[in-house]
Amino acid sequence: MPAYLFEDLVRTRLATEKRGVDVIDLSIGDPDLGAPEVVVEALKRHAADARLHSYTPPWVVEKFCEAAARWFKSRYGIDLDPEREICPVVGTKEGLAHLPLAVMDPGEVAVVPDPGYPVYSRSVALAGGEVEYVPLEADRGFLPDLGILRGKTPRLVFVNYPNNPTSATADLGFYDDLVKWAGRSGAYVASDAAYAEVAFDGYTAPSILEAAGGKEVAVEFHSFSKTFSMAGWRVGFVAGNAGLVGALRRLKSNVDSGVFAPILLAAIAGLEEGWTAYASSMRQYGLRRNMIFKGLENCGMEFLRSPATLYVWAKVPASASPGGRGGSRSMDFARTLLEKVGVLVAPGAGFGSRGEGFVRISITCPTPRIEVAVERLAGAGSFWAA
Ligand code: PMP
Repeated sequence: MPAYLFEDLVRTRLATEKRGVDVIDLSIGDPDLGAPEVVVEALKRHAADARLHSYTPPWVVEKFCEAAARWFKSRYGIDLDPEREICPVVGTKEGLAHLPLAVMDPGEVAVVPDPGYPVYSRSVALAGGEVEYVPLEADRGFLPDLGILRGKTPRLVFVNYPNNPTSATADLGFYDDLVKWAGRSGAYVASDAAYAEVAFDGYTAPSILEAAGGKEVAVEFHSFSKTFSMAGWRVGFVAGNAGLVGALRRLKSNVDSGVFAPILLAAIAGLEEGWTAYASSMRQYGLRRNMIFKGLENCGMEFLRSPATLYVWAKVPASASPGGRGGSRSMDFARTLLEKVGVLVAPGAGFGSRGEGFVRISITCPTPRIEVAVERLAGAGSFWAA
């Protein structure tokens, strides 16, 4: 199993900083704005209650699932049975990583997007499954071509919209087609909606569970990490197909003992009262995103102008290094940016071979630092144009 992409990036950053360079890290998507005050207050209150220091009491899980179901209903108009169709996860990374183990037999195939969040392929490998990559290409709006899966019988298909790393979005029509295809081919769909609420310009992401028959084939993962800037809290939930949710719940009961009860209760406060703070975070992210857009335009870089996610997916300029520094083009370009202007971005190749030729720029860095990064980028164009 290779090291997780960001372990290498963190090492590179630390080594560069040791040389005295002031590094602005736009590589990792780690929300910096802090959880809503109502959430923090709820945690303080519940953490002071020693009765909640035990293994998570079932009534807390029930209460959390009911709150998630109420939110799902108000957000998407979908009814979910909190007992059978929702399960808390220790962050969606945990749920995504355990799902293949819960639902796949060794040797079965899972379809994974390339480029994509690295956890999908690793978790399939851990379950002894085979990974079949589907390319996400710019000319298809970074949506997978289901046509190429014709005749194949995967057990599980991972999709992720709004997408990391490309920032692409999918409409309900895409989910309708995917659900129909999955129904015909006997596959299940794991839809990773970690960025569903990170949206700008009035955009609202649809849910795969809105597609007709969605619940028959799909589960969807929702995270508090990005929506409420709670990445370190490790809490999210999976919703949808009762068979898949039940299988994951059973597996999890054997490998973890759930989320700390005060965190589940604080997360409920987020779902019920965290939306003013959320709106202010989205305004802040929106400003940062526009600054990056402008900075990239100014230095002649092409990028996807997406209404969602914490990332900007930008093309490595054609005139930049052809990959002569020992790494791939995107790796070399990221390294050059770091060395010349002290700005660290994530090389697209780290997300899969089809990510090559791109870099991912994150907006989870304080706004004044983004401002400086944009100024530095403005001066950077000259070294790759040369
Ligand atoms: N899915 C995607 C696409 C992500 O980018 C991330 C985190 N970067 C996650 C899931 C995991 O989020 P968490 O475990 O914090 O809910």
